[in-house]
Amino acid sequence: MEIHLAEHCGFCFGVKRAVALANEAIEKHGHVAVMGDLVHNRAVMEKLRDKGLIYIRDLEEAAGMPVLLQAHGTDPALIYKAKELGLELIDATCPLVSEIHRYAQELESEGRQVIIIGDHDHDEVRGIVSRLHDACVISQPEDIKKFCRIKQKSGVVIQSTQQFENVREILPLLLTISRDCRIINTICEPTRQNQKEVRELAKKNDCVLVIGDKSSANSTRLFTLVRSLNPNSYRISGVGEIDPAWFRGCASLGITAGASTPEDQIDQVIQYIKLLDGDKRK
Ligand code: SF4
Repeated sequence: MEIHLAEHCGFCFGVKRAVALANEAIEKHGHVAVMGDLVHNRAVMEKLRDKGLIYIRDLEEAAGMPVLLQAHGTDPALIYKAKELGLELIDATCPLVSEIHRYAQELESEGRQVIIIGDHDHDEVRGIVSRLHDACVISQPEDIKKFCRIKQKSGVVIQSTQQFENVREILPLLLTISRDCRIINTICEPTRQNQKEVRELAKKNDCVLVIGDKSSANSTRLFTLVRSLNPNSYRISGVGEIDPAWFRGCASLGITAGASTPEDQIDQVIQYIKLLDGDKRK
């Protein structure tokens, strides 16, 4: 069976940067605190925990340790409180997420109602909302009537890892209500590349695997997209979840991974599949 790995898959530059900052800080200080998931991958977080990253629920627990801010952004109220407590902050916010914060604030300063196309409970979306006075989050077309009274003058930003197809369904509906709507496409470049490649991968291969943690919204979206194009697609977080029956009759297998999936997890999957394939030929 031929294996085709997507060129742009696994750690995006924002996640790489956050993990590198965590490692540097652990080396320097011994222990570093973080609230919530630094990145959405359990194996990566456990590795960092073993080295010295401490997961805290309250800033009071961080006494004596620097606090690392998550890759997908942090509520400014929390940053303010950390400063009040005299804690040292290490900002691992992805620069592309910080850019979305700036765009959203710019839209608000123009007197627009800010609409965020994204997942209601995602850290990144919460981080954007917390910087605005009055924002509205839409994750699917039905939310427009459910959650928002769209105003005539509005502005749209998009969660960095949103699937283009979803955005394409929502935008025309917004435009039927809002006459003066400024749209800033903030889907980040690594997500765009990943989604573009994955479309090809799904069409050109008999079977596709998406490697990504269950907590990763980006991997979930990638899998939804792949599955809609190739029904013989599966999502796994590691080797242990692979069912060899999936590859029966497959001449080619496409592999991709979410933005928080580390390289060693991808390598393990490839090695395991090569082993399975080798056994079949004996
Ligand atoms: S997915 Fe995009 S925005 Fe999010 S951390 Fe990676 S590069 Fe940054």
